[in-house]
Amino acid sequence: MAKTLFYTILASICIFVLSACSDEHKFRIGVSQCSDDTWRSKMNAEIEREALLRDDVEVEIRSAGDSNEKQIADIQYFVDNGFDIIIVSPNDAQAITPIIKKVYEGGTPVVVFDRGVIGDCYTSFQGSDNVDLGRSAAKYARHLIKGPIRAIEITGLMNSTPAQNRYRGFHQVCDSMPDFHVLGSADGRWLGAVAEQKADSLFDLFPDVNLVYAHNDNMAIAASQVARRRGLDIKVLGIDAAPEVGIQAVRDSIIDATFLYPTEGHLLLRTALNILENKPFERQYMLPAGEAVDQSNAEILLFQYRQLIESTAKVQELKSRVDQYWERHNIQTALFYAVIAISLLLIGVIFLLTRAFWQNQRNRQVLEAHNRLLSEQHRQEKEFNLRLTESTNSKLRFFTNVSHDLRTPLTLIAEPLEMLDDEHNLSENQQHLLKIARNNVDILHRLVDEILDFRRYENGKLQLHPVEADLSQLIATWLEAFRPLAKRRSIALNFTVNPDFDYSLAIDVPKIERVVFNLVSNAFKYSPDHAHIDVALSHRGADQVLIKVSDTGRGISPDDIQNIFERFYQVDKVNANGSGIGLTLAKALVELHDGSIMVESQSGQGATFSVVLPITHTSNTEPSHEPTITLSDNSLPDSDIADDSQASFDPDKPIVLVVDDNMDLRLLMRELLANDYNVIMAANGRDGLAKATRYIPDLVIADVMMPVMDGLEMCRQIKNEISTSHIPVLVVTACSMDEQRAGGYEAGADGYIAKPFNRKLFLSRCRNLIDNRKRITAASDHAPEAERPAATLPQGDIDSEFFARVMEIINAEIANPDLNVDELASRMGLGRSQFYRKIKALTNASPVELLRKHRLRRARHLLNTTEQSISEVCYATGFSAPAYFSKCFRDEFGETPSDLRSRLQGH
Ligand code: ADP
Repeated sequence: MAKTLFYTILASICIFVLSACSDEHKFRIGVSQCSDDTWRSKMNAEIEREALLRDDVEVEIRSAGDSNEKQIADIQYFVDNGFDIIIVSPNDAQAITPIIKKVYEGGTPVVVFDRGVIGDCYTSFQGSDNVDLGRSAAKYARHLIKGPIRAIEITGLMNSTPAQNRYRGFHQVCDSMPDFHVLGSADGRWLGAVAEQKADSLFDLFPDVNLVYAHNDNMAIAASQVARRRGLDIKVLGIDAAPEVGIQAVRDSIIDATFLYPTEGHLLLRTALNILENKPFERQYMLPAGEAVDQSNAEILLFQYRQLIESTAKVQELKSRVDQYWERHNIQTALFYAVIAISLLLIGVIFLLTRAFWQNQRNRQVLEAHNRLLSEQHRQEKEFNLRLTESTNSKLRFFTNVSHDLRTPLTLIAEPLEMLDDEHNLSENQQHLLKIARNNVDILHRLVDEILDFRRYENGKLQLHPVEADLSQLIATWLEAFRPLAKRRSIALNFTVNPDFDYSLAIDVPKIERVVFNLVSNAFKYSPDHAHIDVALSHRGADQVLIKVSDTGRGISPDDIQNIFERFYQVDKVNANGSGIGLTLAKALVELHDGSIMVESQSGQGATFSVVLPITHTSNTEPSHEPTITLSDNSLPDSDIADDSQASFDPDKPIVLVVDDNMDLRLLMRELLANDYNVIMAANGRDGLAKATRYIPDLVIADVMMPVMDGLEMCRQIKNEISTSHIPVLVVTACSMDEQRAGGYEAGADGYIAKPFNRKLFLSRCRNLIDNRKRITAASDHAPEAERPAATLPQGDIDSEFFARVMEIINAEIANPDLNVDELASRMGLGRSQFYRKIKALTNASPVELLRKHRLRRARHLLNTTEQSISEVCYATGFSAPAYFSKCFRDEFGETPSDLRSRLQGH
């Protein structure tokens, strides 16, 4: 918008300036005079005077000075300089005609005057009637001299037409008069000096002459002066009547008369302009011959002439002033427009500057507000970070204190457990429980140690106690602890080391053990069964060793890889098997040795951790390095496939499915439940879901945080599957916060129990949940109509819909004796045993019992409300033999159908 305005103003200025400077078109007229006598000067003055009246006309007059060459050059000059029209008085018709012809044919208009050309190669011709002039001169001579006339004639250049015509006119008259004789004539070539000589000669020849007729005034004056010198009384006539020459000479009585040869320069210019402006003009224009000028009128003509000159000078003066004013006016106009344009430009610039200023001001305000907001955010962030650090520190302090406090009770648990273990009369079961307890005491020990080490490191109090040790031997020993786990999970655990090198160096053994243990146990934690874990020890240069731990597990994404060495960082926020400080501590311990730790990994492609340690030596040695960390059976996730083989199946007991990734916990729960239930187990949600669908247990107990599929997802899927939807799910978790509980209920969990749990509470929750399942049976038992048992159940419940559908099939086919459990199961899209367990769980009765009960209820209803015979009722409810019908009826209702009928009739 601003730019457009600016450009508009600029364009207007350009237009103003250009229009002020532009020059209108001017007609350029070139005038070529053959010579510069007074007659021609008069004519030139007339032309210039006429041109003064037109602003659009520019006239340039050149005189050839009686030279043909000069005149040709002048004409060429006009052509070369682009003159619009050329006005020519040819010096010599013969010499000048070719150039005039060329110009005329070249397209430039030519006006010929005074003297003619050969042929008609001109646009217009203006001449005077020279014949008539000659005649006037002769007649005037007759009038002047009463007696016989003896005349001599001095002609103009006899090649020029005026001279020829003046000669002809004069002779026409004198030839007609008897006493008028022209004694002789000579060519004076229009020039006084030539005429003087010629007159002298003629006077010599004809001494009695009494009249001189000269073709122009100059020649007449020259002849008169010769005659006077000789003392002759002769009348002298001239032609042209140029004021300063001819008329003056008449007035001064030097000559007797002269004849006005009209100049009419203004007419000549008008003709030229008419041609240029395409207006009508006369091609041949002859000016009539003028009056004689003699003593009677010479004075007045001279006076008039001088007046004219004076007026012309005044007009010229006025004209030049007007021109000056006009020029000034033009300059002022241009200045005026320039001032307007500059003002507009200034206004535009001021407008733009003001706008920019305000915009700047606004931007600055916005920026300031933004900055204020940013610094406020920054302050809040700083405050938050401070609070976070404080809270983390106080948490760490708390953990450290708790860890310290835990050590004593842990020792007090561990020692009695050791002692108990030494007892020989323990049952297998008790030994098993003891092992679980010992394993978990070890885990707690390790965690407490890690936290304390970490705290020491953070406080800068973790000290290095290097001893000289053989790292390759140590690693080999440490890895042994992982072998059983590797075997159970079919993981290939390899240790490669180049035996040619020596790996003795100064290290703090327990600390490096923790590092290696951490890396290897992470490799196990984050790799599936059948994976490969490689540990390699090598030299890097002469002064470093490199420990590489690589696995083919799930790997680490680029986003996470930058953070895994940060404390408490865990890729899975729900990870039951980690604390998030393992790698932080490992890094700290390696750096304490002046070493470094790096990781390379890609999601899904395994991970490789590299530890570089500098080779230094010390004289400190320690005889043996017993591993300080024991790998308890359950410190790492175990194989997905839980071992159910020991379970002996008792068909009278309900089935409970325990899903937990912690094997100890699974085993403990199995111990607790084994007396009252058949227990099956799964190590993760996916396995749990498969087993729930396969066995249709009476209860599922599930941990929330599990690998592969968590407990809540498994619960959600169990509840959405028709064959398992009825199974109650009890969720066991270490998270006891209310919102997590709500999450569990949203997923359809029927109960929630927090770890660590009380044995009795746990068992009673299990029993309650199994008992509650019998609600449908109860509902159907109390239903007034046997065919609508589902009517009392909540709508939309998968189980209610399932049961309603079963009842619908039974009701529709009640008279069909072939309707059996297989038929019903297949029509419900379930396997026979799944259908059996589902119906049993929902109704506490087997499908066969359910079917029979409904047949009997329908039968009693028919007996009560219709007149049908007993055998009709028997067949109508799908019994094929009346005797069997009677027996079943009595077993169900305590009386036979006939008893019922007779009781009814008795009433
Ligand atoms: P944690 O106790 O959770 O294992 P660590 O500090 O040992 O804590 O590890 C931090 C995180 O780094 C882990 O939660 C895990 O996501 C990731 N991680 C460590 N080692 C591996 C590995 N070998 N493969 C994949 N992820 C790993």
